[in-house]
Amino acid sequence: MDQFTRVRWCFLLLVLICLPTMAASPVHHAITVDLDPESGLLKAEDVITLPEATKRVSFDLHAGLKLELVTPGAKIIKKSNRRSSVPIKRYKIKLPAKQNSLQVRYSGKIQHKLKDDSKKYSGGRISTPGIISPQGVFLSLSSYWFPVLKDSMVSFNLNATLPEGWYSISQGESSKENIWSESAPQDDIYLIAGKYHRYNYSTSEAQAQVWLREHDPELAERYLKATEKYLELYSKMLGPYPYSKFSLVENFWESGYGMPSFTLLGPSVIRFPFILHSSYPHEILHNWWGNGVFVDYSTGNWSEGLTTYLADHLIREQSGTGSSYRRDTLQNYSAYVSKNRDFPLKKFRGHHGTSSQAVGYGKTMMFLHMLRMELGDKVFLDGIRLFYKDNLFRTAGFKDLQKAMETASDKDLAAQFKQWTGRSGAPSLEVSEYDVETKDDGYKFTFTIRQTQRGNPFILHVPVHIQTEDSSQIIHQTVSMTKREARVTLSLKHHPISIIVDPLFDLFRRLDPTEIPSSLGQLFGAKRSLVILPSEAEPALQDAYMKLADSWRNRSRRIRVVWDKTIRSIPNNGMVWILGKENLLADEFKRSTTGLPLSFNGDGMDIGDKKFPLDQHSFVLTSGGENTIGWLHGSSAAAIAGLARKTPHYGKYSYLAFTGENPDNVLKGQWPVVNSALYHDLRMGVPRVQFPEHSPLSDQIKQD
Ligand SMILES: [Zn+2]
Repeated sequence: MDQFTRVRWCFLLLVLICLPTMAASPVHHAITVDLDPESGLLKAEDVITLPEATKRVSFDLHAGLKLELVTPGAKIIKKSNRRSSVPIKRYKIKLPAKQNSLQVRYSGKIQHKLKDDSKKYSGGRISTPGIISPQGVFLSLSSYWFPVLKDSMVSFNLNATLPEGWYSISQGESSKENIWSESAPQDDIYLIAGKYHRYNYSTSEAQAQVWLREHDPELAERYLKATEKYLELYSKMLGPYPYSKFSLVENFWESGYGMPSFTLLGPSVIRFPFILHSSYPHEILHNWWGNGVFVDYSTGNWSEGLTTYLADHLIREQSGTGSSYRRDTLQNYSAYVSKNRDFPLKKFRGHHGTSSQAVGYGKTMMFLHMLRMELGDKVFLDGIRLFYKDNLFRTAGFKDLQKAMETASDKDLAAQFKQWTGRSGAPSLEVSEYDVETKDDGYKFTFTIRQTQRGNPFILHVPVHIQTEDSSQIIHQTVSMTKREARVTLSLKHHPISIIVDPLFDLFRRLDPTEIPSSLGQLFGAKRSLVILPSEAEPALQDAYMKLADSWRNRSRRIRVVWDKTIRSIPNNGMVWILGKENLLADEFKRSTTGLPLSFNGDGMDIGDKKFPLDQHSFVLTSGGENTIGWLHGSSAAAIAGLARKTPHYGKYSYLAFTGENPDNVLKGQWPVVNSALYHDLRMGVPRVQFPEHSPLSDQIKQD
């Protein structure tokens, strides 16, 4: 399951033509279409209404469709072949007189097989530019199934004829079965069809709908309720929902598409329980961002970052774990984005793997978070609302977002937008050179914050928290940096005992390796690792440990196995597993955990405030920074076999405890970071304070 939580399923279908950045009147299509899924045949008639009268029209159509002009006197004056996601024909048409309408008829097959691009994209991606098949119909602009005029938004009426038991779905409103219309400007016309079971529910914002390929009223009910919840939340937060319905539609392959007023999710995706409150609200929110305000892709796709911030991040803020979501985001950037894979946000078009996701979703999200921290929740939300109001049904870019934020805040934000959207890379920070001087009325505390990345310094507002002897008081300070170095002096009443920079991960920056807790993912992600077996364990256990090491080996994970008595100490230049409590190197592992909330006594161990007798429990512990060491102990041969299967699914955790033969997990967690480049204890052994999380942005609605 873990792989699905890591994969961002959703992506908007990229629009392949260049959309105008200004809202002009849309080109209106009145399409009647007859679909035969068995043969893949489409027969259509389209009455095209142009925004103004003209004598010449040109458009692109799928090359497999045969075109016939119905308008009397209209002539094809030029026909040329082109290639987009499919072969297309560009037609230049001369009309008999200046007029604003053209009627055409066309027919042919669209049958592009599903292609699996799993190798190219993390988590896999199956797609087709368009298909009419017995399993279902999927047509959008990328199949050129309707005449596509360059640089124009569209509105439409769509009347589809399908076999008995088949239903079609598109954007907008349906007055009658298989009849759809949308008068607000759109960047695409979708035509999806299949044999569906349909469920409806009226909410105060819009009609909630669920379209499933099998009858499943309980599943439908869960989605209808979630639809109501999120339509209401986002309408209050951002402005009215822009469509008359929202539908969850089950696709006939595994996908995660967000279309205007509906989402097309794969059969497995729909049935994962966690999707309901992770990917699903993300898809709903895309009706504001991407499918309500359209994206001007030529200046950078802002919509994924904004949607991630107000869906995925907001949901984690509501559960009190916003800072760990941001830390994971920064960790992904630090892990996946090397210098040659980095790019500025204005170059982001869509998700093409882990590095483009870490920048396009992650960095955009963090930029928005920094803006919010700078402007405050109220002003930030006012700016977002204004951006929505001013740009609904138009294409917009970062410039429009900047304009809205500047209006709401009455501030010049040009430098921030230029730095975060126009420049690649991230700042790296360190805090050092502390000095405490006793004064008559308290203490003078001085320290230096430094940006250690290559290249020019970033303009940053760095949050610094200082703990003093007066435990009731934590001093919060924001240090504004425009240069590489800031020397800061503070007058304090009480003696400072610790200093921490950016404890809630509010800045977009490259994490220092010392800030990242050790995790099982580091061990399982390594191409090579060393496994050290316990020579003093019972033969049955030795055997079980050997099998475990074997089972973890695969093509991309090389594992070398040695006995503990052949090696004097734990090598410090790679990933290492120590197996068994009897392992001769177990004591060395224990020493490596100094500072962690972990203690050992003869027959047991304490993790935090929980006690675990070793004979009844199995455990997996990690320690280390860049080189991670794992220590795994199974209470029996059966438990070891179970650990072999289960442990790889707990990648993000630093420690695990299990009970029984199965074994069942009873504890899992990540170590706190005890020492880092951004944290300094001025007095040893000071208990680290918990910093309160920011209130979720949605709390702002209550104050409106
Ligand atoms: Zn998305």
